[in-house]
Amino acid sequence: MKPISEIYHLLEKPKQVVITFHQKPDADAMGSALGLYQFLIQFGHVVTVISPTNWAAFLNWMPGSKTVLDFETQMEKANSILQKAEWIFCLDFNVLNRTKKMEPVLQSVSAIKILIDHHEQPQTDAFNYGISNANKSSTAEMVYDFIIAAGYAEKINEAVAECLYAGVMTDTGSFRFSSTSSSVHRMIAELKDRGLQHSQIHENLFDNFLETRFRFFGNILLNRMEIFYEYNAALIAIPQADLIRYNVKTGDTEGLVNFPLSIKGIKLAAVIIDRGDERKSSFRSKGGFDVNTFARKYFNGGGHFNAAGGRNNEPLEEVVKKFKIAIKENKEQLNS
Ligand code: 5GP
Ligand code: MN
Repeated sequence: MKPISEIYHLLEKPKQVVITFHQKPDADAMGSALGLYQFLIQFGHVVTVISPTNWAAFLNWMPGSKTVLDFETQMEKANSILQKAEWIFCLDFNVLNRTKKMEPVLQSVSAIKILIDHHEQPQTDAFNYGISNANKSSTAEMVYDFIIAAGYAEKINEAVAECLYAGVMTDTGSFRFSSTSSSVHRMIAELKDRGLQHSQIHENLFDNFLETRFRFFGNILLNRMEIFYEYNAALIAIPQADLIRYNVKTGDTEGLVNFPLSIKGIKLAAVIIDRGDERKSSFRSKGGFDVNTFARKYFNGGGHFNAAGGRNNEPLEEVVKKFKIAIKENKEQLNS
C-alpha cells in the first residue's frame, strides 16, 4: 500500500469513483463516505457510494444519503458501477471480508483501491494506496485530514462538515473517548466556523427512535443481561426471537453494549446477537483490557483496543459458552 499523498495531485482530474465501507455502516462509515462524496463531486468526479448492506434509518438525514446504493438489494446496478470504477475508496474497515458479499467483487475489479481507516492490523496488501492510523478517533477525522493535507480546505462546505461531524462525534462517544485529541477539537472548531449546526445532528442521530426500541432495551436489560463479577465482565445474549418480537431494525441495537459497561467495576461488556445468518458480537472495555485481541482470538473479529466486534457461525448457546471460557482464560487481565 503506497502513501495516500501520492494521489493528491490526481484529485482534479474527473474520474469514475466508488466509495464503500463496512457492512451495516455506522455514522462514522456513512459520515466519512458522504463527507468524501460531497468533497469529490466538487471536482466533477462521478461518485457513487455503495453500502455492502442496508443501514440504520437514523443516518438518512445526511446530505447525499438518498444516492447511496445497497449492494444486497441493488446488486446489478452496483456491480456495473464497480466494474467501471477507476478509483474505489475503502473507508472505515481494515479487511475486505467486512464488506460481506462485496468482498469477491472488490478482489476482482481493476479499480485502484484507496484505504482510509483507523482499525488495528489492516490487510494492507489488498489496497493500492491508503492511510491507516489506529490512533485516529474516526475515519471522518482522517477524511478531514486528507482534504486539508491535499490543500482543499476551501472545499469543506456545510454538507461536508455535517457528514464528517457525525462520524467524529459518534466514534468518540460524543468527545469522551481517549482518542479525542486536541486536533479533534480543532477540527470541530474549524467545522463550526464553516457553518456547522451541531445540535441538530445530535437530535437526528439520538432522538429519532421508535418506542419499540426502548421496550426492547427494557426487556433485554431485565432478562438477558448476565454479570460475572468474578471476572469484571458482563454479557447480553439476544436470541433471534427477541428481535422479531420487538420488530428490531438495523441500528436499533447500537449503544446497547454501553449499558453493562456503565456498571461499577465492569471492565468488559459484550453483546452477542443471533441475527439468523450469523451470531454478531460487540465488545467494549474500560481501561487496559484489549478487546481487539480478544475479538480476534475467540470471535473471528477485531477492531480497536476498547471497542471491537466479531461474528460466529455456531449457534448462540455455543458462542455464549465460548465467551464464558474466554473470560475464564482472561481472568488475570480482567482483574488487574
Ligand atoms: P461494533 O461493536 O460497533 O459493531 O464494532 C466495534 C468496532 O469493531 C468497530 O470499529 C467495528 O468496525 C469493529 N468490528 C466490528 N465487527 C467486526 C468484525 O467482525 N471484524 C473486524 N475486524 N472488526 C469488527
Ligand atoms: Mn470508525
